[in-house]
Amino acid sequence: IEKEMARLERLNLVGEMAAGIGHEIRNPMTTVRGFLQMYKRKDSFAQYKDNFDLMIEELDRANSIITEFLTLARNKPVDLKSQNLNHIVRTIFPLIQADALNTDKNIELDLVEIPDILLDEKEIRQMVLNLVRNGLEAMTAGGKLIIRTLIVNDDVVLLVRDQGGGIAPDIIEKLGTPFFTTKEYGTGLGLAVCYSIANRHNAKIEVDTGSTGTTFSVRFMQNSQE
Ligand code: ADP
Ligand code: MG
Repeated sequence: IEKEMARLERLNLVGEMAAGIGHEIRNPMTTVRGFLQMYKRKDSFAQYKDNFDLMIEELDRANSIITEFLTLARNKPVDLKSQNLNHIVRTIFPLIQADALNTDKNIELDLVEIPDILLDEKEIRQMVLNLVRNGLEAMTAGGKLIIRTLIVNDDVVLLVRDQGGGIAPDIIEKLGTPFFTTKEYGTGLGLAVCYSIANRHNAKIEVDTGSTGTTFSVRFMQNSQE
């Protein structure tokens, strides 16, 4: 037990350090981004517009890596409130639909009436976003991505189904390992974040994949005996 306590304390320390460093790096990034936005609009810099866009994009990318890393290293308890999963899905729908349409894909919602459950809105939003982004990225030939909610044995379940090429068996076992990616510009943090968020919600993630697509399901267990 003592060893386990020491290990937890070390983990806590790492989490706190990560959070501290993350915020310290973010503040100057925000300042730089603000100046870039401002200079980008100046006529005298018109010829460098592409460079400014690229710099802003790169800063945004670094920022989202920090966000994901902080979620992963999180040591604070989640902010659980009784609310409806459908509502959270609906609030991010315009954002993800815009992403999809930009790349000739489409997102469909199939939400049934479900009871309110204890959720951390920010984390669930991030989880759905990460699953949807992976689905869209897998659909290189276009297609439809479906987000469904349903009830299975009194548990609320979220499904994200894509029409991508599926996941090879040797890759399935690596899913959720931080920094594991098969993409040229991937971070390999998206699923690791999803698993840690699911963990904090007493939810279980399952993957069902084949050559016609992949379905990620997240089941929010209402009864800890299950
Ligand atoms: P990233 O998206 O940055 O690569 P993730 O943790 O989100 O990191 O995903 C890790 C890897 O899992 C991806 O690189 C990809 O190989 C695989 N993967 C995840 N979701 C899907 C999906 N819906 N279809 C096919 N492969 C997937
Ligand atoms: Mg991803």
